[in-house]
Amino acid sequence: MSASSRALHECECSVCQQQTDPEIAPYHRQINLLLSRLNEPQRRWYVAVLSQEPGAPSDVELARITGLDEKTIWRGRQELEADLLNAPLHRQCAEGGGRPVAEKKTRP
Ligand SMILES: [Zn+2]
Repeated sequence: MSASSRALHECECSVCQQQTDPEIAPYHRQINLLLSRLNEPQRRWYVAVLSQEPGAPSDVELARITGLDEKTIWRGRQELEADLLNAPLHRQCAEGGGRPVAEKKTRP
């Protein structure tokens, strides 16, 4: 077993702290669950995308939810705006590249 580098972040937003909305807490937990499986750049890009959704929480709020720094979220947004041109690509999937997408037309 490898040591897990990142524990699941517990959301620190006011909604989760005060448990005012039973639907928000599981959603924020899922965000953090997903984040725990992503690497560092992927985490900030994901949160950067979240921050641009309609009705998205502010960066301050997102920082509380995800544990990421506001500056990190801002940086993720800058990188996305630049089409991730400066972000290095990791060649992890070189072996299985070009796997055909199975297209089943069982439903109309
Ligand atoms: Zn929350």
